[in-house]
Amino acid sequence: MITAVIECTCTKCSITLADGKAKLKFQCGCEDCRQALQYGHSHGGIKPDPLPELFYMASDIIEVRGKESMKALQLRDEDPDILGMSTRIYCTECYSIIGVDHPIYEDNVFLNFPKHCRNTGDLSVPLTAYVNMIDYTEKIGPLPTEDVPLFTTGRFQQELDRIFSIPVVADTFKPRELPLEGITLSQLIQDLGPVTLLGLEKGKVLI
Ligand SMILES: [Zn+2]
Ligand SMILES: [Zn+2]
Repeated sequence: MITAVIECTCTKCSITLADGKAKLKFQCGCEDCRQALQYGHSHGGIKPDPLPELFYMASDIIEVRGKESMKALQLRDEDPDILGMSTRIYCTECYSIIGVDHPIYEDNVFLNFPKHCRNTGDLSVPLTAYVNMIDYTEKIGPLPTEDVPLFTTGRFQQELDRIFSIPVVADTFKPRELPLEGITLSQLIQDLGPVTLLGLEKGKVLI
C-alpha cells in the first residue's frame, strides 16, 4: 500500500494515511456539503464548486500533525435528515476541511474534498454517481453531464438499496475488515475534544 498525505492549504495541519488509494468518488449536490464549504470559504478557505467532488479514503491515519489547529464542527444541533450528521475537521487557520465523518461510513472510510485540502493520494478512481441531487438546481450550477447513475436522496430505503447495489459502494460503506495501522478519523475527532455546533440554518447560502 502507498501512503498519502492530506494537508490543509496553510500547511499547519496534515494527516498521513496508511492506504492512500481513494476507494470511491461521488459528486454531491447536498446543501450541507455546499454550506460546509461555503462556511470554510467565508473564513478564508478555497471557493467551492457548485457540485463538489468527494473522495472516500480508508480511515487509517498513521500520523497527525498540527492537531492544535484542528477543530471538529457540525453545521447545527439536530438535523431532520434521518441519516444523521456529518462531523468535519477544519483547520482553524485556513479553514480547509481535512476530513468528514458520518455514521454511514461505518468508520471504514472518511470523506475528503481534494479541491479544499491537498491530497497526495491516488485519486484515479472514476466517478461512480451523483448523489443527493434533490438539493441541486440549475440556479446553483451547471447540470451534471457524466453518464453515471444519479441519486436524489438517501431518505428512502428503495433508493439506498439501489445505490448499495453498486459493488464499489457496498464495498466502501461497510465495517472495516483489515486491522488498523493507526487511528480512524472518528478517533481523531474524539481526540480533538467537544464538537462545536455552528447553529447554521439548514439550506442557508453563506456566500
Ligand atoms: Zn490550515
Ligand atoms: Zn453532500
